[in-house]
Amino acid sequence: MHRGEGKSKRHPLRRLQLDRNKITRPSLSPLSPTGIPKIRHALSLTSSPEAEPQRTAYQFSSLFFQKLPLELRRMVYAEALGGKVVHFTSLPRRRLGHFLCREAGQGRGTKREGGWGCACRINDSRVYKRMDGMVLALLLTCRQAYSESIEFLYTHTTFSILYTPHLLHLSLLLPAPRLSSIRTLCIRWHIRGLPYYTRPGRPGVAFPEDTAHWQRLWQIIANLQGLRDLYVVLVDINWKEQWLALEKTLLEPVKLVVRPERFELVLPWEESDVGIDVGASACRLRRPPRVMDEEEGEDW
Ligand SMILES: [Zn+2]
Repeated sequence: MHRGEGKSKRHPLRRLQLDRNKITRPSLSPLSPTGIPKIRHALSLTSSPEAEPQRTAYQFSSLFFQKLPLELRRMVYAEALGGKVVHFTSLPRRRLGHFLCREAGQGRGTKREGGWGCACRINDSRVYKRMDGMVLALLLTCRQAYSESIEFLYTHTTFSILYTPHLLHLSLLLPAPRLSSIRTLCIRWHIRGLPYYTRPGRPGVAFPEDTAHWQRLWQIIANLQGLRDLYVVLVDINWKEQWLALEKTLLEPVKLVVRPERFELVLPWEESDVGIDVGASACRLRRPPRVMDEEEGEDW
């Protein structure tokens, strides 16, 4: 999970993942803590099918479980595990790491609050903080604590994607119940090869992989069962004329995203059409504010 981690230090959360795609199976949970002794028994209710049946022993000797009713324990879990904005980063051997947004909490109610207008860069992730291992250790104290608290790690965390392949990776890494627990998702989506673009006089789309990636990611977003808040910023610096010509086609997959109650999609160009029909989606189309350019410069 981390730099310098040897093969002998296999991670305790290794078994928490569900293998839904054996070909592209990632090796670790992206939100795993560090420095925690290996646990031999799976904690997750959705571990791999070959895992032995596990029992949850009641923690009679624990004052935390004895004195606090579940309602209060859930408040503790929400406070301890929630409220964070998490970015992801690629690690060797198809692993996915995370780091905390350095600007989260700066300006409540603004785009920075959710990390979707922040200046974090995945290439600089080594200097950023990770989620506190001691906080995450709460999950590993016992199976009862894990079972009661794991949902808060997903429902109360803002997932902020800076590089769209990480979202694809995440959808393969996390078990379906965890994916369904994600409530808030922010995406900074850089357009590389323009989807659906066809070069004059040539058959087929010019960038079939980018087109498939575009369609698949929107499908993944549409399938996030518990998603409530979605913020997407599209960044395109190369295809202005072509983007504007294809904009209606490009936004067709957006119609699939009907679950979020709040969905803002910032289009890449000032000339973009914010009146395009988005069907049953709650999507609100926006143009990139000028203030972004002044504040963020080329970061957007
Ligand atoms: Zn950030």
